[in-house]
Amino acid sequence: MFGKRRPEALVVGAGPVGLFAAIQLAKQGIRVEIIDKDWRTGAHSYALALHPSSLRLFEELGLLGQVLDHAHLLKTIGFYDAGGRRAEIRTPDDNAFGGLAAVLRQETLEAMLEDALKAIGVHVLWNNELSDLESYSDGNRVTVDHLVKETVGYAVAHTEWTVGKTVRLDVPLVIGADGHRSTVRRRLGVDFEPAGQTRHSAVFECKTNADLGNEMKVVFADGTTNVLWPMQDGRCRWSFQLLDHAAPEQTRTKDRLSEQLGTGEYPVLSEESLRHFLKERAPWFDASIETILWRIVVRFERRMAGCFGRDRVWLAGDAGHVTGPVGMQSMNVGLREAGELAGIVAAILKQGESPTRLEEYNRGRLQEWNCLLNLQDTFRPGDTASPWVRQFADQILSCLPASGTDLAALAGQLGLRPE
Ligand SMILES: Cc1cc2nc3c(=O)[nH]c(=O)nc-3n(C[C@H](O)[C@H](O)[C@H](O)COP(=O)(O)OP(=O)(O)OC[C@H]3O[C@@H](n4cnc5c(N)ncnc54)[C@H](O)[C@@H]3O)c2cc1C
Repeated sequence: MFGKRRPEALVVGAGPVGLFAAIQLAKQGIRVEIIDKDWRTGAHSYALALHPSSLRLFEELGLLGQVLDHAHLLKTIGFYDAGGRRAEIRTPDDNAFGGLAAVLRQETLEAMLEDALKAIGVHVLWNNELSDLESYSDGNRVTVDHLVKETVGYAVAHTEWTVGKTVRLDVPLVIGADGHRSTVRRRLGVDFEPAGQTRHSAVFECKTNADLGNEMKVVFADGTTNVLWPMQDGRCRWSFQLLDHAAPEQTRTKDRLSEQLGTGEYPVLSEESLRHFLKERAPWFDASIETILWRIVVRFERRMAGCFGRDRVWLAGDAGHVTGPVGMQSMNVGLREAGELAGIVAAILKQGESPTRLEEYNRGRLQEWNCLLNLQDTFRPGDTASPWVRQFADQILSCLPASGTDLAALAGQLGLRPE
């Protein structure tokens, strides 16, 4: 399963954050292996926008051109209610990328990152699940199960994944990028406490005849937040917040098959329901929906890890935090975390820097996520904020596709200022 050369770092999880971490480590000369319990990259658009901070990271990696070739740039964010357009954010003239954010399907991003990793000689070890982790002050012992397909059953045969082989390995450093149900986080005994309300969305990815231009439309109606994303190839994605609706945690599981295997038990995903949402929440949307290509009900929790690791095991991405869907924070900030963590790990392993630098990572992560999960306490409407913006300030802040100073700049266009 692992080659003859013992890895210096093991990345657990080949989602966008793990793939990015592995690329950054390999580029800095670290012998890295990356494992994933599943059999390939994800198959849907999921977190479909790249923040300016992510575009800067891809520029540094030399991947920006490729990203932009497959992306649809957002030039404005329009804020609406059922009555129509109420406020907007525009791309400043001095913007480096020609847009506020880039709409790129997560499956395209993951495939691109896997290819970039292969190009530097690192192959994702798919079907390999981290099943145990013992961490010590100077390294880790990991247990990895290699999963194989097996046909079982007498009367009706079906295929199951079973453990074919188990390997134990000592590895100096582990990065847990293994998503919101992170085994790495659980093995460390780190809690993942709720940090706000869980919400549910009905998501419809559609073909439409509408010319949606380059605008993300955020619609506040009847106490809900709803979003229309323009995409490439005449596609768009509508997501509608569901009130009084509960869906199991499994709805947050990434699918690896692109075809839709039915809509499950959710009547809210019917075409009639889509028409009803549009009529009630966005009656001004007068384009026709030609085909629904993907639909799903998703549960979005808001949680944050009590700490982002210790000794020689550190977390990045959804393994350390989850939040609401509109601002696309978890994946984008996760990419930044992967980059930062890889830089620190390389400095420790290659230049002999003190491992206490990893404590700085922990402090920075806790501070940023405390702020991102409580944006309403961090920003206040200034004199230039319109009455409408004042009314919806809390919801607006969590919808902005940016973090840090980029987020402050977007909020500033609406008169929302950091305290
Ligand atoms: C249906 C759906 C809709 C979504 N919609 C949105 C949205 O609208 N907006 C938004 O911001 N975000 C959305 N997300 C979330 C977004 O996809 C995540 O924030 C993003 O994928 C996080 O990336 P990551 O690399 O941290 O984790 P993930 O992409 O979850 O990757 C983790 C990887 O780790 C692997 N893994 C897990 N455990 C192990 C183990 N023990 N051993 C080995 N491998 C392991 C998994 O197989 C997975 O490939 C959605 C997610 C889903 C599933």
